[in-house]
Amino acid sequence: MSGLNKFLRELAKRTIWLFCPNRCPYCNKLIGYHDTECDACAKKLAGSVIQKLPMGGSCIAPFEYSGAVRRAILKFKFREDISPADSLAKHIYGVTKDIAGNTDAVTNVPLSALSLEKRGYDQTRILAKKTAELLGLPFYPALKKIKQKKVQHTLDREARKENVIGCYEVPDSESIAGKRLLLIDDICTSGYTMAECRRVLLEAGARDVQCAAAAIAELEPH
Ligand SMILES: [Zn+2]
Repeated sequence: MSGLNKFLRELAKRTIWLFCPNRCPYCNKLIGYHDTECDACAKKLAGSVIQKLPMGGSCIAPFEYSGAVRRAILKFKFREDISPADSLAKHIYGVTKDIAGNTDAVTNVPLSALSLEKRGYDQTRILAKKTAELLGLPFYPALKKIKQKKVQHTLDREARKENVIGCYEVPDSESIAGKRLLLIDDICTSGYTMAECRRVLLEAGARDVQCAAAAIAELEPH
């Protein structure tokens, strides 16, 4: 991007901000131009959680899926409000930066073409791209959702496992051959979707697949 274009884009962003200032995605307080959340929420929410995935591997996330985080993710996912994305990506970055040195590219658990058409945007792609930028890694959309079965969160645990099998493929396996990938989803619930995507990526030739989400919904009791 040329210097002038960059300047104009920044100017446009700042003008919009004057009329429509940033708000904390978790508590709705007004925040500064460069801030992604308020100080109180940043302090309260800092941390990380890990969930073991079925079929091996684990998923790391900055948040448990509850309270203010849950509301922010629902807004991002279903209400055409992508304002929480910067904060969520920043927190995913926080829990994945240590593995960035052992990662070649970031990818995402994609929506089906039909869901994408309905929603107009793929929230996990936005999250993965923003996280990749923060990690200084390339983003590569390696997976394609080829089947839309039932909506995963409406099913019980056993049915979820069956429901995701065969839903994803890697259209260009050469592009990920031998690569170490970081796979990103918005919410990790039973872990079956993430585990299936991980399996498909490994089967297509990826050398390693680490997993991260913005939030984990079903933490095992400690
Ligand atoms: Zn806040």
